[in-house]
Amino acid sequence: MRILENKMRIGILGGGQLAMMMIQMSEKHNIDFMVVDPSDNPPASKYAQCIKSDYNDKDSLDRLIHECDIVTIDFENVPSEALKYLEKKVSVYPSSYAVEICQDRLKEKNIFNEYNIPTTEFRTVSSINDLSLAISILGTDSILKSRRMGYDGKNQITINEHSAEEAWVLSGETESILEKKVDFKTEISIIGVCPKSSETIFYPLVENFHKDGILNLSIAPYSNTKLQKLAESYHNKITKELNYTGILVIEFFLDKSGNLIANEMAPRVHNSGHWTNEGSNISQFEAHIMAIAGIDIKNISINGNSAMLNIISKMPKNISTNNNYKLYNYGKSERLNRKLGHITINNDDKKDLIKDVERISKLIF
Ligand code: ADP
Ligand code: MG
Repeated sequence: MRILENKMRIGILGGGQLAMMMIQMSEKHNIDFMVVDPSDNPPASKYAQCIKSDYNDKDSLDRLIHECDIVTIDFENVPSEALKYLEKKVSVYPSSYAVEICQDRLKEKNIFNEYNIPTTEFRTVSSINDLSLAISILGTDSILKSRRMGYDGKNQITINEHSAEEAWVLSGETESILEKKVDFKTEISIIGVCPKSSETIFYPLVENFHKDGILNLSIAPYSNTKLQKLAESYHNKITKELNYTGILVIEFFLDKSGNLIANEMAPRVHNSGHWTNEGSNISQFEAHIMAIAGIDIKNISINGNSAMLNIISKMPKNISTNNNYKLYNYGKSERLNRKLGHITINNDDKKDLIKDVERISKLIF
């Protein structure tokens, strides 16, 4: 543990855009940050001291222990051994236990089911035989997903486009689950911030639209009191089990009968919460830092209607921030299906917001 100085320092494993925004949006709290990331010049490295190393490099972890008061993450695929090593000597939020569950789709689905939170039907798949059996039970309208390391629709194979054998080879023959496709009306997420010792504070539900498995557009609030309460009750069950501090997000499908079906969760700030930077008095990024640092969050309120459009693969040249919208450029090199930035749009009137979204999405796609 670090000898306390008058300025708190938070270590972040992962230096992507989420770490970058946690640092940018918490400026007024007078906190120092130290980032560990294996890549060259990750987005957060412009704003904080950055150690370039693997996440399980002992020297880097020891630096976090000696030089930071708290450690957090900007993505869930950090090795849980690294978190376990850290948590013996320094406060780590979220805990290795929470992260281990969120890293593994099977553990995630099991915990949802344990708490009677509906999920789509699924089967565990460890071999071609398991897969063939699972397809015979769930049907071909199903998706094979690797248990680990999936994001932005990666490591997912749609079965009705392939034979079982092809799908198994394409999956890399890795530990997976087969899940039944949900015929959803829309997708929704709940973002809740858990302070250390008081009730979770929730943002309003967000409606999410994906393209090829990647989040394309989020719109908030998705105003539905009944669903808001239900999503909050599910979130509370999970965070109680995980003894959670900080932001946790659950993604749901809203099926055609109006049921919330839990898809997955993220033990961190989330892409569907980027609108909170302009659309709320306390952004998800600042709220996460406040919660883990033990700074009191009095209340969270939102301003009108907000939307967020992701910029994927190519950065548009003809667009810059103006009064109605704000452009974020993460400073990453262009690559197919890579998230490079986003635009937040605010409007008191929802219809006008949708018109803005349509106009601006034409400029970036
Ligand atoms: P990732 O970790 O890549 O975000 P998800 O499980 O959230 O993985 O899948 C990405 C997107 O793919 C979802 O938001 C949804 O649009 C679609 N998808 C995933 N699973 C299903 C499913 N069982 N039924 C229908 N659509 C799905
Ligand atoms: Mg997802």
